[in-house]
Amino acid sequence: MPATVDQIIRSKRRTIAIIVHRDGKVVVRAPLKTPERLIHAFIESKSGWINEKKAQAAQQVALPVKKFTGGETFLLLGREIPLRVVDGQKTALTFRDEFSLSKKALPGAQAVFTKWYQARAREILTGRVQFFSKKFGLRYEKIRISSARTRWGSCSSRGTLSFTWRLVMAPLEVVDYVVLHELAHLKVKNHSPVFWAEVARMLPDFKRQRAWLKKNGRFLTLDGEE
Ligand SMILES: [Zn+2]
Repeated sequence: MPATVDQIIRSKRRTIAIIVHRDGKVVVRAPLKTPERLIHAFIESKSGWINEKKAQAAQQVALPVKKFTGGETFLLLGREIPLRVVDGQKTALTFRDEFSLSKKALPGAQAVFTKWYQARAREILTGRVQFFSKKFGLRYEKIRISSARTRWGSCSSRGTLSFTWRLVMAPLEVVDYVVLHELAHLKVKNHSPVFWAEVARMLPDFKRQRAWLKKNGRFLTLDGEE
């Protein structure tokens, strides 16, 4: 099937480039003087690639941008926790079986939630790191909570383990995979087969958790940004 192009933009450039945007829009950038037929021949030669990219774009689900309205849900360890927005609550945000957000805190709700997640991340990750480091006899220096978007964890040469707070939105098995991955780096710094053998020794089904993170990691967000 020949690919359709939405826009051709000519500018002072030397080569033709095709860009398929996230919304599926196809834009071709071309030099000022390239004849139209050459541009179309180029597009035709890339038809397969363009159609494949467009199909991928169509499959991308929009990321959840939180609006902080009642009934909206927020992830904690893989569970969808509903939100209630209430009048006259002293604390900005409380959590029991559901989130309860004070109406007064609405303008800064994203910051309030981020702070809440950061505190939970510190608790949960400290607990998991202590449990597994004891179980496998590993020594770390300290734990740091970051706000990274795609880097779930890291391990410094001094043994500081960093984890993004977003990780506690994921199911506990996934959290454990990232924890064990970073703990394995205390022994092996790189991602060699020796490293993966070490991860597999501690968590035999780690590939399932790693695949989950790869597929769903982009949804662990409050603001829809990647
Ligand atoms: Zn690693």
